[in-house]
Amino acid sequence: MPTISKVHYDVIVVGTGPAGFACAVRCAELGLNTACINNRQDANNKDTHLNTGSIGTMALLDSAKKYHSLIHEYAQHGILANEIILDVSAMQQRKDNILAEIGNKMIDLFNKNDIDHIHAKAKLLNPQQVELIDDNTSLKSIINAKYIILASGSESITLPNIKIDNEYIFDAKMALNLDQVPKKLAIIGAGVMGLELANIWGRLGSDILILEAQENFLSLLDQELSCAAFGIFQKQGLDLRLGARVISAKKGNKHITIQYQDQEGTHTVKVDKVIVACGSRPNTANLAAPEANLLLDQDGYVYVDDNCRTNLPGVYAIGDLTLLGPMLAHKGIEEGIFVADFIAGINNPINYEVVPSVIYTEPEIAWVGQTEQSLRATGEPITIGIYPIHENIRALAISKPDGFVKIIAHSYTDKILGIHIIGSNASELIAEAVLALEFSASNEDLARTIHARPTLSEAVHDASLVLRSKAV
Ligand code: NAD
Repeated sequence: MPTISKVHYDVIVVGTGPAGFACAVRCAELGLNTACINNRQDANNKDTHLNTGSIGTMALLDSAKKYHSLIHEYAQHGILANEIILDVSAMQQRKDNILAEIGNKMIDLFNKNDIDHIHAKAKLLNPQQVELIDDNTSLKSIINAKYIILASGSESITLPNIKIDNEYIFDAKMALNLDQVPKKLAIIGAGVMGLELANIWGRLGSDILILEAQENFLSLLDQELSCAAFGIFQKQGLDLRLGARVISAKKGNKHITIQYQDQEGTHTVKVDKVIVACGSRPNTANLAAPEANLLLDQDGYVYVDDNCRTNLPGVYAIGDLTLLGPMLAHKGIEEGIFVADFIAGINNPINYEVVPSVIYTEPEIAWVGQTEQSLRATGEPITIGIYPIHENIRALAISKPDGFVKIIAHSYTDKILGIHIIGSNASELIAEAVLALEFSASNEDLARTIHARPTLSEAVHDASLVLRSKAV
């Protein structure tokens, strides 16, 4: 039986991913008596509250970049190493230590805020009751609350004809735990996850093949960015095949045989390992008892209104469970805080128009606001300023010349409508862009803002100067 100290709470939060965790902490800060339920286990089947995905990716990306730089970039700095040894298990240990440290910090925060954190599978029974099921013993208990917040997140989509064994064929999450660098690695799906994993294992030495069903690369992005990214990744040696829909992957004696179809027919390739990174779906299977009547759409997303309210009174859904905004951790965190405030009588609506997106590749890709193609489609009069990163002196000093900054502003009002960056540290540079859009800044505001020299952020400033000169 899950250890529970009470049966009545003000708030029960189901799920301790970024959205659920932020929500539980904020509820407790607001004086609400809060329980947080989670049945997550780590790669070693240990109970954990931590959603390891993005932190694990960051930890391994950092290791992979260091290894790659040592081999390919340090010599030009006059730093030479005779023998470079790659110890993947030490690298994984570092990642696991980081995850353990962050997991402990979460538990400290739960304890500090008097949040009951319960390890169990939760099922919504009705608007005020949640059933807890112990994973090991299957014993059940019931807890009650005035408000229930569903934040059970999402899981990787699997493909028919491809059996994930996490030994040869991995899902995107388990692909962070490989204990060796595969010689030839195929990644199915050139989405955010596939590209980040390609960056990790490619930089550690795998020969990468990415098979992407869509003809258009990163179709959500501003097209100028996706074209540039495609060229840069190809130049880096990624074998990126578009319009290539994978239909099967089978493990043989020595290799995995993948079959995919494109316009020219059916093809077969042999690789050593495969990662399936074909997207995510909401974790709503068995989240609610049928008699609870929680309304889902045909894809399993929880129906919510603009205030994250489900069709059941007092029941909210946040993060990847809903179609309100993109499936991004920071969007989920904002919703968690919003809902906690909302039930405490504070209404600070989220501005879904200004949610930044980042792809942690090298160079990084980050954007906020609208793309050129979406604005042209609505006939909006726009002016664009583009500044190439190779003109930025800091980028030259650190030998990271790839990419550009693109700013789009309204031609008449000068209001900034979108900022799109591909380049080193784009994930950090985008913060200024988000602030500009959040404050409804004009391009003139950005052009008049002094940027420190020499910094990469000058490229953002310079793009605004280019735009201003065009506008004049
Ligand atoms: P995605 O939907 O972005 O990409 C999956 C890709 O797989 C799509 O392009 C799709 O066309 C392709 N695909 C599907 N079936 C295929 C097949 N049979 N053969 C070949 N290609 C196929 O999903 P993702 O990259 O897995 O990411 C999942 C979610 O997690 C996304 O919402 C993403 O935004 C989020 N995420 C965000 C970050 C970040 O913020 N940096 C990192 C990882 C994941």
